[in-house]
Amino acid sequence: MLDALKRRSGMIALEGGKNLPPIIYYHRVAPGADPDTGVTPPAFDRQMGILKSLGFRGVSLREALKSDASSSAGMICITFDDGYQDNYAFAAPVLEKYGFRGTIYCVTGKMGEKTAWADDPRWVGHRLMTGSEARELAARGFEIAAHSRTHPDLSSLTGEELWTEVRGSREELEEVLGETVETFCYPYGFYNDETREAASRAGYRAARSTRRMRPGKTENLFDLPARSISGEMSLARFAVTVSGFRLLEGWRSPLPPVFSDGESSS
Ligand SMILES: [Zn+2]
Repeated sequence: MLDALKRRSGMIALEGGKNLPPIIYYHRVAPGADPDTGVTPPAFDRQMGILKSLGFRGVSLREALKSDASSSAGMICITFDDGYQDNYAFAAPVLEKYGFRGTIYCVTGKMGEKTAWADDPRWVGHRLMTGSEARELAARGFEIAAHSRTHPDLSSLTGEELWTEVRGSREELEEVLGETVETFCYPYGFYNDETREAASRAGYRAARSTRRMRPGKTENLFDLPARSISGEMSLARFAVTVSGFRLLEGWRSPLPPVFSDGESSS
């Protein structure tokens, strides 16, 4: 029973009966980061230490998609939006220290530039990693994946404009990396049926949103839920959140509930 629990701990239940490990997402990991936009490197280090001590193994979404019921035991997907240079400088070395990896979603038309797509000044002026930094991280086992070309609200685009952002970012990134790009992440978490359909048609295997998990519901590969981790979250809250991924098992699993009244009809 314990093994079965461990195997299924906190899994995202997919349509068709498969499961994926839980997914968390970050933006910046930088000294002095505004708490809304990121965490500091020491805080990130402590969070990864908590995951390690709880028996989790941080992986990319690509690796999780390849896993089966036994190999996904203890996995948690660690993802980063926008592709900040500080992910290269600060987050990646911490992840490696714990034997973890993760997925970094790059805005492929803006690599090496400073962020300028947001109205909120807290999100403006941050350096994005260059193509060669992304290539280096890919060679070190990180998944570098696509987050559109220019970070628009994809739900407001249709036809050729939408296709250029969704498919174009895949082509652009494959050119930079020299390897296949397998997953996508919707800017701002905005999408609709047409956006999802475009992501599927563009050849991605899955797409992540910023939506919270819905315990007990089955999820679609092109609308994967994730939990935001910002600098506002205390270490205790982080520990409770990730521990909760394990406790939620009973709601997601097709197995009988852990706490049963024993009055089975059969
Ligand atoms: Zn973004």
